[in-house]
Amino acid sequence: MSPAPLDLPLAAWPDWFAARGGRPFHGRSAARWLFRRGARSWEEMSDLPAGLRRRLAAAGPPLTSVVEREAAAGDGARKLLLRFPDGAAVECVWMPGSRGRTLCLSTQVGCPIRCRFCASGADGLERNLAAGEILEQALQVRARGSFERLVVMGMGDPGLNLEATLAALDTLLDPAGGGLSARRVTVSTVGPRGALERLAAWGRPVTLALSLHAPDDELRAELVPGGRRPVAELLAEADALFAAHGREYTVEYVLLAGVNDRPEQAEALARLLRGRRCHANLIPYNPVPGLGYRRPVPAEQRAFAARLRRAGISVTLRRSLGRAAEAACGQLRRRTLPC
Ligand code: SF4
Repeated sequence: MSPAPLDLPLAAWPDWFAARGGRPFHGRSAARWLFRRGARSWEEMSDLPAGLRRRLAAAGPPLTSVVEREAAAGDGARKLLLRFPDGAAVECVWMPGSRGRTLCLSTQVGCPIRCRFCASGADGLERNLAAGEILEQALQVRARGSFERLVVMGMGDPGLNLEATLAALDTLLDPAGGGLSARRVTVSTVGPRGALERLAAWGRPVTLALSLHAPDDELRAELVPGGRRPVAELLAEADALFAAHGREYTVEYVLLAGVNDRPEQAEALARLLRGRRCHANLIPYNPVPGLGYRRPVPAEQRAFAARLRRAGISVTLRRSLGRAAEAACGQLRRRTLPC
């Protein structure tokens, strides 16, 4: 289990420290060390009294995960594999971009959605991550450098572990914690029943990335078996979230050669998205060995995007970062699993 106080809201940290013989303001100081200065041990927090640091260290470190593996790609993306004391392993990816560095966090160990093209889904769900374990990914990366943007788009679907995900985001958005702006945070989900309503009720204007991947119910049920819901219903819920937050959402669409990238599928997607306050994010597939899907050649990718644009849809054809770092989600972890 992740150690206290990371599983607690920041507002509870003063009491947590006071209960251990510290002063309430030591909570603010420790948060600054962890989130701003990249500390990973109590010993580094030199403005806490030495006796308090010794007591805290004797009870356990602030972070329990170890970085078991680190992979780097020539394009600057880095992927960390974190191992928790119970043996569970998760990945987080850290990528450069034109608007600063982006951190991609995982919310579950494995994933129950089992998208046919995804390494994370191939072995199903092992367990949910606690809020502190989601935060630990950000803190392990923070110890290596800074990030300005956050995407909750790694292993697992945050919509199926929403309480822990939102608790972690509350801490990362808090000026006394991660200090991130909600406008620089994206939460990606296949849209499990109730998840988008809960995001709307949470009230922070983060961006929704709705993982669609198919323009019709039949193909989506095949590609995203654990996210089986009518496409029209999902988009209506995303529209309602836009009405609540005023944030345009993105529709994520992994381009799979010969599966969902045909001209008539581009036309069908355009019909679905026309008139909505959304942006289509086309993601050329990062092939996963053994899953049997291919990445369309660049000309086919561009043709799909052009059809959407001609229909008036706002589109980005994403550059794939981190291919050499096995950045397709779940690949690094899968390599380390006994098979
Ligand atoms: S693509 Fe995302 S939702 Fe689908 S199996 Fe992989 S991690 Fe889960």
